[in-house]
Formats: sequence, C-alpha cells, structure tokens
Amino acid sequence: MAETIHCYRHPKRETRVSCATCGRPICTECMRQTAVGIKCPDDARLPRGARAGVMKPDQILKTLLAGAGISLVGIPVVSIILGLPFQLLISAAAGYGAGTLINRAGGRNGGLLAITVSVVATAIPFLVLLAPNALVGAFSTFDILAAVLAAVAAGLANRQL
Ligand SMILES: [Zn+2]
Ligand SMILES: [Zn+2]
Repeated sequence: MAETIHCYRHPKRETRVSCATCGRPICTECMRQTAVGIKCPDDARLPRGARAGVMKPDQILKTLLAGAGISLVGIPVVSIILGLPFQLLISAAAGYGAGTLINRAGGRNGGLLAITVSVVATAIPFLVLLAPNALVGAFSTFDILAAVLAAVAAGLANRQL
C-alpha cells in the first residue's frame, strides 16, 4: 500500500505527485509542467537564474557591512593609487578586488544589491578624495576616469554567470 500524500496547498486532496524542486506534494490542479519536470506553483514561478540573486538577510547585512568597510579602507588606498603610475589599471584592479570581496560577503549571490553596494562602496573613496579638488575646478580627467573604471570593475565582479 502506497502512503497517501496530500497537496500542500489543498490538505484534503490526495495526490501521488510531488514537486521536482522542493518535494512537496501537489495535486493535479496545482502542479505545473516545466522543462525539468512537475513543480509546485512557487518553484515553477522562479527559474534557476532568478534565484541566484536572492540573498538571505544575513547575507544582505554582510554585503552592506563589507561595502561600508571597503569605503573606509578605500580612502587611504585610493589616495595612494592616485599618486601611482598606471593609476587607471590599478584602480580597475582594486575596484574588481573590492567587488569580489563584497560578492563573497553576500554568499556569492551577486545580483542588483551586490552590484549597487560594490559600485557605491568603490566610488565613495574617490568622491571623498576628489571632491575638494573638483570644488575648486582642479580635478583631473584621469582621476575621474580612474573612479569610473574602479566602480565599473566592482560591478563586473558581481555579474551573474
Ligand atoms: Zn516546489
Ligand atoms: Zn492543490
């Protein structure tokens, strides 16, 4: 005798089908045919790619903390980088490194939040350092370019593969 299971959305309905993703039993009315088998409506709605960017609350917190840390540490780091030769190259590499750290802090989910935090956290040190010069009209195009490259590289580090 097979064990009877009941649809998780309709506890009174017996079924023999269960979701390929979460394993919950589902009745014929609730089940959704997908390319990878029968799924419950919750999982059928979320394709694989859409789930990659979903962070747990602690991962969101760690992402924000990592962003704040990188903004702070970035100020002295960027002030050194801007005085070095190949500052554009180094800025991009540093931005990519910062973005990677933030990506790891968020459990490697990537996604919009990680990208936003990475770009902002990388841009802040540049803004802090370049703002006084910019206010007196003495900013260099190179410095601005370095900031943009670093921010873009930080965002790229969080792209979803
Ligand atoms: Zn499911
Ligand atoms: Zn049902």
